[in-house]
Amino acid sequence: MTSRDWRADRDAVLDRDGFSCRHCGTDGGDDPATLRLVPVGDVPLEGDVHESALVTVCDECFATLESSPSADPIASDELFRRVRATTGVQGETISDIASFASIATSLPATLESAVDDGTDAELDDSISEYRRSRRDVLLALAVVDARLERLAALDDDAYDPEIRTALEDFSDAAADLQSTLREVVALSETVAVGLERCHGCFGALEGETCETCGLEARETAEWEGDDGTLAFERLFATINDRLQGASETTETLTDRTTTLARRLTAA
Ligand SMILES: [Zn+2]
Ligand SMILES: [Zn+2]
Repeated sequence: MTSRDWRADRDAVLDRDGFSCRHCGTDGGDDPATLRLVPVGDVPLEGDVHESALVTVCDECFATLESSPSADPIASDELFRRVRATTGVQGETISDIASFASIATSLPATLESAVDDGTDAELDDSISEYRRSRRDVLLALAVVDARLERLAALDDDAYDPEIRTALEDFSDAAADLQSTLREVVALSETVAVGLERCHGCFGALEGETCETCGLEARETAEWEGDDGTLAFERLFATINDRLQGASETTETLTDRTTTLARRLTAA
């Protein structure tokens, strides 16, 4: 995260996000000063951050994302409350990512029928849905990362060895799930690039870097068919496969959360 100033876009972004936090829904109401903007996904190293990569969060979610984690040990009931809150957010993120994947994978057909009919309304809706859904899932993944970092930063010498092991097993499964979910997002973004659109702002892509938002185009060579166009069917099958993997990891995670809960209540 950089300390660059993106105030220029602030009003437009707040308005687009309905003056409320895109993670927890807290309404900024009459006091939008309590709302912050954070960048999501890759952002260019220099220059302005395009509004398609900025998202509105409340003070509290901003603190979760930005303040440094504390090592101070916490009581076992508080520890479990945090673990459960983290799996709760991660669980919602899985279904949001499944929706994002479904929006992304329907884009080729939507784009084609817009060309056939010469109408843009449905396509415009799909594109703004793609952008919004992408920002929301990237934000949710960042919040889960921040929560997991907080759990990892706790000085666990304060806990029994059995609890420490259960906490580590939980964290490993949660980290596994995070990386599978990130992969689903990246594969879904690849659909946009296959349509010669930027995977962030969905602007037309001519070359390596998006002229609208400055994002580097995602590499697609791996997904090209013999004719040099993107093999959408293979890409979609892989997305489904990874989503299936995510649901299997979720089962492991649930088991490990249960084990941790048992050890914490036995302590
Ligand atoms: Zn919030
Ligand atoms: Zn772009």
